[in-house]
Amino acid sequence: MQDIEADIIVVGAGLAGLSAALTAHERGLKVIVLECAPEDERGGNTRFSNGAMRAVYQGIADVEELVGEIGAEERAHTDFGAYTKEEYFDDLARVTQYRTDQEMADLLVANSRDTMRWLRAKGVKFFPLYGWQFRSPDGSIRFAGGSAVETYDGGEGLSGSLFTAIERAGIPVLYRTRAISLIERSGRIVGVKARRGREVVEVIGRCVILAAGGFEANPEWRTRYLGPGFELAKVRGSRFNTGDGLRMALDAGAMPHGHWSGCHSASWDLNAPDVNELAYGTVFKRDDYFYGIMVNTRGERFVDEGSDVRAVTYAKLGRVILAQPGQVAWQIYDAKGTPFLHEEYRHRRSARLRADTLDELADKMEGIDKASFLQTVASFNKSVRRDIPFDPSGKKDGRCTVGLTVPKSNWAETIDTPPFEAYAVTCGVTFTFGGVRITTNGAVMDLDGAPIPGLFAAGSMVGGLFYFNYPGGAGLMGAAVFGRVAGAGAAEFVTASG
Ligand SMILES: Cc1cc2nc3c(=O)[nH]c(=O)nc-3n(C[C@H](O)[C@H](O)[C@H](O)COP(=O)(O)OP(=O)(O)OC[C@H]3O[C@@H](n4cnc5c(N)ncnc54)[C@H](O)[C@@H]3O)c2cc1C
Repeated sequence: MQDIEADIIVVGAGLAGLSAALTAHERGLKVIVLECAPEDERGGNTRFSNGAMRAVYQGIADVEELVGEIGAEERAHTDFGAYTKEEYFDDLARVTQYRTDQEMADLLVANSRDTMRWLRAKGVKFFPLYGWQFRSPDGSIRFAGGSAVETYDGGEGLSGSLFTAIERAGIPVLYRTRAISLIERSGRIVGVKARRGREVVEVIGRCVILAAGGFEANPEWRTRYLGPGFELAKVRGSRFNTGDGLRMALDAGAMPHGHWSGCHSASWDLNAPDVNELAYGTVFKRDDYFYGIMVNTRGERFVDEGSDVRAVTYAKLGRVILAQPGQVAWQIYDAKGTPFLHEEYRHRRSARLRADTLDELADKMEGIDKASFLQTVASFNKSVRRDIPFDPSGKKDGRCTVGLTVPKSNWAETIDTPPFEAYAVTCGVTFTFGGVRITTNGAVMDLDGAPIPGLFAAGSMVGGLFYFNYPGGAGLMGAAVFGRVAGAGAAEFVTASG
């Protein structure tokens, strides 16, 4: 048993943990970070992410503050729009079915802009988020959906810049160090027990910030909390987020909060490994479903592919696919839809099928009820409102179907122009929504609603923000905002209590 000492012990080296560590260090405290992954797999889900971030901005000047000057040509064909506090709050409320914890939502929204500036100052580079916007046939781009920027080189770039900042600040990170339990002395959390291989070490300090992610990589917990069948879902991110931080907090008497049976889960390529690897990143995402239709093995459509814009629909689609027979579905496109597909659809491991007729395509779709599939496409084609123009350039276009049990509310295009393509997909779990309840300065509350002295939490471990769904880009934003909140709260606690 070996003792290591610091003022503040941070568990987890994703965006939340690193933001907390840097914030506490800025306030003059001695911080140490424990990370269970080896150094070459560090960075948690943050490193796997696309790097899209949802923050309030008033217009192009705010975007330029983050990305640098935008050239005249880019300005000429791009409408960067704006995203107000009210819009952010409305989106959060709407997609969570009005359950989002108002206090948490207020913290997220109110601190989003300033936190983006802070990340920029820490060396994170941003880029306009062109990939998520709608393009008109004339090439012009209209920003819609709230997230205006992404980090340069996605999660890899974000994670890399933060580790550089951590190294510059001289904050030690202990890799392959898995926190297993909290140490409490005289009613105050002062440290953690951690495993380093078979050795158990005690890391003693003056308080602990848990930022160890959710339980998405733990099949047993997924089944227990998200529901039967979730053990069969694929993991889109880090293999290290197995719920340790949540277990430790609950063992210490923390109050559970939020949507414990809820998670972010998306449409994910059937050929993806069961648990993602850094070399693949996000190549298996299949989020362009609204340019086509989706069918299950019964050959039936089962979801409104065009109910809303992607940013507010993709994160709930995985669960719907998981409920289909065999936990699989196909996305079907014709030659009118395929030009809109993102590059990752062409990845060499993509479960992609191609044919010149729908009949031949169905023959390649293993296990599909062919007659039913052909009938589904025929009825779908008949039901499309051709009098409403198809418009991929911005808001919902209202081009819908009529008379179908499962409607398509926007971007309904007939599937009739060869060649046809089918992409086999399943459910990919991204992160879980259940967490612990915190105060507005990041302290973990006990079952009676009082702060547990010396215990703070941040990032995906914080419950109450997301229910059923989430607005794209709010996961990273939440990790950074609540990381800073916990870092400042912990620093204040240590300074005040000694
Ligand atoms: C494929 C993918 C794409 C995504 N894209 C986006 C996006 O574009 N925009 C967006 O907003 N969000 C996105 N997200 C979600 C986003 O990644 C998360 O919301 C965010 O990274 C959470 O940060 P965090 O610090 O809480 O968790 P993480 O980044 O997961 O960090 C948790 C850390 O804790 C460590 N840990 C776990 N247990 C222990 C233990 N016992 N001891 C020590 N360390 C431990 C883990 O190894 C990990 O490093 C995406 C996620 C995935 C998987």
